[in-house]
Amino acid sequence: MIQIQNVSKWYGPVQVLTDCSVTVNKGDVVVVCGPSGSGKSTLIKTVNGLEPIQKGTITVNGISVNDPKTDLPRLRSKVGMVFQHFELFPHLSVTENLTIAQMKVLGRSADEARTRGLKMLDRVGLMAHKDKFPGQLSGGQQQRVAIARALSMDPIVMLFDEPTSALDPEMVGEVLDVMVKLASEGMTMMVVTHEMGFARKVANRVIFIDVGGRILEDCSKEDFFGNPDARQARTKDFLGKIL
Ligand code: ADP
Ligand code: MG
Repeated sequence: MIQIQNVSKWYGPVQVLTDCSVTVNKGDVVVVCGPSGSGKSTLIKTVNGLEPIQKGTITVNGISVNDPKTDLPRLRSKVGMVFQHFELFPHLSVTENLTIAQMKVLGRSADEARTRGLKMLDRVGLMAHKDKFPGQLSGGQQQRVAIARALSMDPIVMLFDEPTSALDPEMVGEVLDVMVKLASEGMTMMVVTHEMGFARKVANRVIFIDVGGRILEDCSKEDFFGNPDARQARTKDFLGKIL
């Protein structure tokens, strides 16, 4: 579903991704962790072309992200993205937030978009809030709306960039629950997170990326958590700090 091959990226003279290769198969849940500034956000943004790369290739469902001939807006509409800050439109109601991209990008009618959007809102358990504005919702609820909005576009893969790290602790669980459910329903997901409970529960692979955007580990969850002696020193050090 996602193939990242030998990708390197620089911001000016600074190398932020170093020869990264990752394969995400259909139905995989790949958790990406690593220290602050190691390039996790940059890596995930390259997947839908939000950040250009200078070396390597990336394909999503066989379509090259870096080919100038690729219709990027169309490709992006198939790649759901959920950020740390929910980025809902504050002046639009929840329902409007759910429908606007479906109409503008996918050309769906208002009725069709509403039906699809409300179905996804129901899936994240927020139907009762359909007519509210983002400011009237808690952070956890806003993030669940952001997930429903991404799902409304019928994505073939979902990318999450620290979706719970800006939330008050009591709201983290409700967002992770939605993500666990999505994973168990077979959604292909690439998730930047330090929530190792989530990783233990649903990841089939865990990637550890170190400063300079170097992938140091890419292994099964069982190996990552169950076989600490086999881990690189940097990974052990990192896990020691967050677990
Ligand atoms: P992470 O998500 O792992 O914290 P990022 O991908 O945000 O890391 O950043 C990786 C490195 O790239 C950091 O050193 C950061 O300062 C740098 N960086 C990120 N965005 C930019 C940018 N737009 N311009 C220059 N440097 C950037
Ligand atoms: Mg980041």
